[in-house]
Amino acid sequence: MISLATNLAEVPLHRPASLKKSISSHVPVPSFQFPVQFPNMGQFALSWCGSQTVRGAPDENLLTLMRAGEMSIYSLPLLKSKRRFRSRMVRDHFVSEYSQEFLHECYIGNAPCTVALHRKGAIFVTRYLSFVAAVVIIFCSWTFLVQAGAANKPKLILLVVIDQFRYDYLLHFNDQYTGGLNRLLIQGAVFENANLEHYPAVTAIGHATVLTGATPALSGIMGNDWYDRESHKRVTSISDETEKVLGGSGSGASPRRLLVSTIGDELKMVHPESTHVIGISLKDRSAILPGGHMANAAYWYDTKTGNFVSSTYYFPELPAWVKAFDASRPSDKFAGSGWLISEAPSRSKRLPAAPGPELYSAIFGSPYGNELLEAFAEKAIAAENLGQHDSTDLLSVSFSSNDVVGHSFGPDSPEVRDISIRIDRLLGKLFAYLDQRIGMQNVIVVLTSDHGVSPLPENLTKWHMPGGRMTTADLFGPIKLALDAKFGKGEWILDTAGTSPYLNLDLIREKGLDEAEVRRVAAKAAAAVPHVLRVYTGDQLQLGAVPNDPISTRVIRSFNSKRSGDLEILLEPYWIRSAEGTTHGTPYSYDTHVPLVFMGPWVRPGHYFQNVALNDIAPTLATILGVETPSGSAGKVLYDIIQQRVDGQTPARRQP
Ligand SMILES: [Zn+2]
Repeated sequence: MISLATNLAEVPLHRPASLKKSISSHVPVPSFQFPVQFPNMGQFALSWCGSQTVRGAPDENLLTLMRAGEMSIYSLPLLKSKRRFRSRMVRDHFVSEYSQEFLHECYIGNAPCTVALHRKGAIFVTRYLSFVAAVVIIFCSWTFLVQAGAANKPKLILLVVIDQFRYDYLLHFNDQYTGGLNRLLIQGAVFENANLEHYPAVTAIGHATVLTGATPALSGIMGNDWYDRESHKRVTSISDETEKVLGGSGSGASPRRLLVSTIGDELKMVHPESTHVIGISLKDRSAILPGGHMANAAYWYDTKTGNFVSSTYYFPELPAWVKAFDASRPSDKFAGSGWLISEAPSRSKRLPAAPGPELYSAIFGSPYGNELLEAFAEKAIAAENLGQHDSTDLLSVSFSSNDVVGHSFGPDSPEVRDISIRIDRLLGKLFAYLDQRIGMQNVIVVLTSDHGVSPLPENLTKWHMPGGRMTTADLFGPIKLALDAKFGKGEWILDTAGTSPYLNLDLIREKGLDEAEVRRVAAKAAAAVPHVLRVYTGDQLQLGAVPNDPISTRVIRSFNSKRSGDLEILLEPYWIRSAEGTTHGTPYSYDTHVPLVFMGPWVRPGHYFQNVALNDIAPTLATILGVETPSGSAGKVLYDIIQQRVDGQTPARRQP
């Protein structure tokens, strides 16, 4: 790659005159280097002409240079077409015409930096400098065109899901982020108001939504598990008795319960051989569901053996590289490792010293689970040559350990803070690895989470906030009593999924009762339970006969007539059905508000404040990639962030 050939590092930043001199005698040649660093200032990006510092605090010398127009000399639009360069130069209006909303790679001295310019006509230079700038831009446009072929099509889509990662973790620990999260916040399109528009807010639904755009009503994934009325058994979102686990223990699994296509499926339907789609996570459902039906593989962690495993759904035996990874016993190296040792000594923890299931479970519930997964992700990228095929590959990485830590200690704990900071570093490591292998300028990164979490009820009490704990018996006991009293004793509730009961339809038929009437009686009893906010019957949800509010919309979008229970019972905000720790699942903001960041040259960086949904990821990616929108998508295209599609199409110019 061509590198910046100036000696401007020798020029003090507070001496613009010297800088001009260097420019006239030296044509700078751009290079694209990551991570973006500036000496003595760390990473930064700012919205220059809006005078709004987005992040970081560049010193006054830099601002002086930028105000004087010096910075524009070194600003290179990352994505521009040849035609645009020429037309603007012919009319000699290049200064204003280049000042669109683009992320610029900039150089002062030899130091690359990033500036986001957010207004038309934002770059201003003097007549003297205009001439110099024209020369520079001619040169840069040539350089860009050399690289344009590589930049037009992403080599890899990297989906990062952090399990149970509330949006406000980006805010609360922001000053501690220096790695991958920091980079996403600076260089990405950051949605500050992204929510799950489904209910309940649980892992399987989140992971089924993110690359399908579908709601549970259509995707069929309406919970982590549910009661299957056909087999009269409890099933999970990915359980499949026709398949077997490869490389470890556990039940067979596949994506067959997912009824819709994913982005990976859509890519593979176009390029079945060359596109590679891989899903990895510590959790089976979080590895399988984002990839979809045509994925080459999904890998997850077996806490009995400490191995990464897969399913016969994908292949008859594990690939050699996975066997080799497992044979190297990567879990065992964490034996005896500690965390929070120096950060919060009174809460410090140490993993079991001996290899075995106890250690592997403890790894799953500690930051070391994420480290293990990141190491496995690097191996997958190398062994599967991800990003090095003729068409775009997709890797989905879901970090599960944050969820276990969050359940145990709550969102306000030192443990959650620690694991959040550590995942920032891990993502930095993963991005650096990708940069070295395929170049981050060839990657679209999407970061999000599958759900948030409620504060610990004990903390809420301390803060004089509402909320508390409720047991399963508290909730379903009164329903059983009411049905016994009205229709005679019987096993009225066969099973439950979350707060949803499955009534015994055979018993209802045996007794010659009306199903809807039995559901009404059950709903009335549930509604009378203290701290139950609202109860919907399946009949109401099917007819859409519910209050017209956002909460009801989330519930109705998630009702699947074949798989859902007979009632959907909403507790009041901050009430949880968990005897210890905390949990998630409600349609309230602390469970639904999640991070959503896109990053890559196809994306217009900045902070976006409109309300968006997890469902919007899939149609937005499909639009950028120029593939069919996944079959069940209910999301909208986040067109504001699309800088350029893979075929070179750019969105129509918006009104200023
Ligand atoms: Zn989860």
